[in-house]
Amino acid sequence: MNPFEIYRLTSPFGMRMHPVDHVKRFHRGVDLVISPSNGALKAFVAGEVLHAKMGVTGSGFGNMGNVVAIKDDKGYLHVYAHLSAIAVKVGQQVVKGQVIGNQGNTGKSTGAHLHYEVRKKFSPSFGWTETVSGVVEPTKYLQDYYSKEEAPIVDKKDANAIIDKYLKPAWGAAKSAADKQEIGRLADTLREASGQAKQNG
Ligand SMILES: [Zn+2]
Repeated sequence: MNPFEIYRLTSPFGMRMHPVDHVKRFHRGVDLVISPSNGALKAFVAGEVLHAKMGVTGSGFGNMGNVVAIKDDKGYLHVYAHLSAIAVKVGQQVVKGQVIGNQGNTGKSTGAHLHYEVRKKFSPSFGWTETVSGVVEPTKYLQDYYSKEEAPIVDKKDANAIIDKYLKPAWGAAKSAADKQEIGRLADTLREASGQAKQNG
């Protein structure tokens, strides 16, 4: 799945010719464009807002214009740059999909777009580092993040052990069709919670 489905990807992560400086430089994130030019931007992941203002030189957000930075539950910092307006405050907890601001052209930018990057650290200087190793590829990071988020809540082996050890004998000993049906329903609840298919209707 593509986490940037509603955006147009105008510049990928990695080495590129810098659009303003015209030299080959590592692009630490992705450039995304949404319509209209001041379109609302939504958080790709939940987390705590660590920065919500104009980025100043030396802070880790120099040249990035208005920056919202959100720390996720794994300690990675999600940086949304060049915003025209900011809709969140430092210390605030945001949920995935919450509007965090509007697309803009603030800072060193050639047109309205969202520069989005994922930093491995959130301190010092908001995880800023010159090296390539300070950031991760955003598309893959989000895909991995979402796939873990949707992971089964019960281990498959545990679910099947409960079914085999308790529910199957109970089903065999059940005296009425209603009891058997109820036990089957419980087994299916466990199967579903562990990412398996239902077996009873
Ligand atoms: Zn960029």
